[in-house]
Amino acid sequence: MTEPLKEAEKSRNFLEEIVEEDLKSGKYTSITTRFPPEPNGYLHIGHAKSICLNFGLALKYGGKTNLRFDDTNPVTEDTEYVDSIKEDVQWLGFQWANELYASDYFDKFYEFAVQLIKAGLAYVDDSTAEEIAAQKGTPTEPGIRNKFSERSIEDNLQLFEEMKAGKYKDGEKVLRAKIDMGSSNMHFRDPIMYRIKHAHHHRTGDKWCIYPMYDFAHGQSDSIEKITHSICTLEFIPHRPLYDWFIEKLGIFPSHQYEFARLNLTYNVMSKRKLKQLVAEKYVTGWDDPRMITIAGLRRRGYTPESIRELCEKIGVVKRDSLIEMSLLEFCIREHLNKIALRRMVVFDPLKVVITNYPEGQSEIVHSEDNPEDPNAGSREIPFSREVYIEKEDFMEVAPKKFFRLAPGQMVRLKSAYIIKCDEVIKDDAGNITELRCSYIPESKSGSDTSGINVKGTLHWVSVPTAISCELRLYDRLFKVEDMLNDDRPYTECINPESLVTVTSAYAEPALRTSKFNDRYQFLRKGYFCLDKDTSEDKMIFNRTVTLKDGWAKEQKKG
Ligand code: ATP
Ligand code: MG
Repeated sequence: MTEPLKEAEKSRNFLEEIVEEDLKSGKYTSITTRFPPEPNGYLHIGHAKSICLNFGLALKYGGKTNLRFDDTNPVTEDTEYVDSIKEDVQWLGFQWANELYASDYFDKFYEFAVQLIKAGLAYVDDSTAEEIAAQKGTPTEPGIRNKFSERSIEDNLQLFEEMKAGKYKDGEKVLRAKIDMGSSNMHFRDPIMYRIKHAHHHRTGDKWCIYPMYDFAHGQSDSIEKITHSICTLEFIPHRPLYDWFIEKLGIFPSHQYEFARLNLTYNVMSKRKLKQLVAEKYVTGWDDPRMITIAGLRRRGYTPESIRELCEKIGVVKRDSLIEMSLLEFCIREHLNKIALRRMVVFDPLKVVITNYPEGQSEIVHSEDNPEDPNAGSREIPFSREVYIEKEDFMEVAPKKFFRLAPGQMVRLKSAYIIKCDEVIKDDAGNITELRCSYIPESKSGSDTSGINVKGTLHWVSVPTAISCELRLYDRLFKVEDMLNDDRPYTECINPESLVTVTSAYAEPALRTSKFNDRYQFLRKGYFCLDKDTSEDKMIFNRTVTLKDGWAKEQKKG
């Protein structure tokens, strides 16, 4: 982590300073913020940043936060998205004061528009979209006002009412604010307030065929809800004067807009449109594919709300766009899982070990800590028997000097059980190793070891008769390119071909039989895992949340 991040952790961020000042000066006695998603997709971790900020401010200063669906575009919105957004906000740990919809204000917006027409500040324009664009000018050249801007207030009122009544087709007319075609701010050049769209809306049905534009809905919604601090991302800076203009001309509650930098993560795309394309074109299995940085995807992957909130806390609130390291998010989840995950043993690629001096048909229970990091965690029982699986990679027939795992004549400890020694290697006709014959030291049992033998290696293992066959999904970053914002290739060409590796040969210890979806595990020496929703009666499936160590840091150094 770099120094400026540490600074941000310690001091108040600029929004907290503004809020404190506003409360101190008596400008407000309490604050109200809002989180305003457009229900046109699932939330991603960038939205989590905005959620933590808006809800966090209100929590810190004793205010409240509304959840407002910015549903003014009927074509792209859906109740499926509304439901997922509510679930995700709550899962992150926040509760809104009111659940509101911009579409509930459609009547009010219409009245506002009429008010501006009556004040001579809005007009109906019959120009095509192309004409309007051509007349708009460029940042260096002023635009020109067309003849429709000369319409009388009476004509405008009548035409606008006819637009609402459905007399015109899509695109035939728009309502524009009459501001300044010469303004250096392009948003001031008679911006469109309403367009005609004969489309079914997920809440208002077919009641409306005219819909307000973002700029004529957002500030007004804030004002209706008496939002004191309306927080959005930097790209809305040029919209702020227009936000203020509408509020001033309408003479309504003066909400104020403040901007902060979007969250961008390395090795990721952070836009609903792109995430939607990944789903639609089946690069991933759905919005909750564990490789997606949607909240639903991260949840299924095994991320905890605490780890996501911790990331948002660590990166702070800044006014300059930056790219946050994906490894910082992974650091946050590792830290949390290390504290809470139950330790379990799972062998990914099994090699059978027969302990020849352990009586046939006998078995016993050994005990192992659920989590050595957590003094309140208990321990579990693990059956031990004459046959166990170990990891194929933990054995080498011809081992280098510092190979402290199993090799012919060499000893290792089986975690929480006994020390074993490899006596014989069994192979098939093709020369593949099929089995190891070992002997165990009966006095070496963990917890009551009187053998006096010291071994350097400890291996995870699973007893054969009680082993559960399971599938493991080893997820990695979805993209292999660090800075996806500044890469010229189409992002679908940057997908990491190893973002999912499926292991079907794994065996788990029986304690995993009763896994629940919210349980978090550390598979010893392997990584952090959680149960996947594709699990069925016949097959348990576990997702790898994150590896135990950052493998990508090494990758980068290698170049
Ligand atoms: P996208 O481009 O992914 O569709 P959006 O900004 O259009 O994002 P909205 O549903 O309009 O999505 O966003 C709701 C709120 O979340 C807005 O206030 C927006 O500024 C904020 N937000 C969206 N993306 C990010 C991000 N990457 N970092 C921080 N805040 C974000
Ligand atoms: Mg948007």
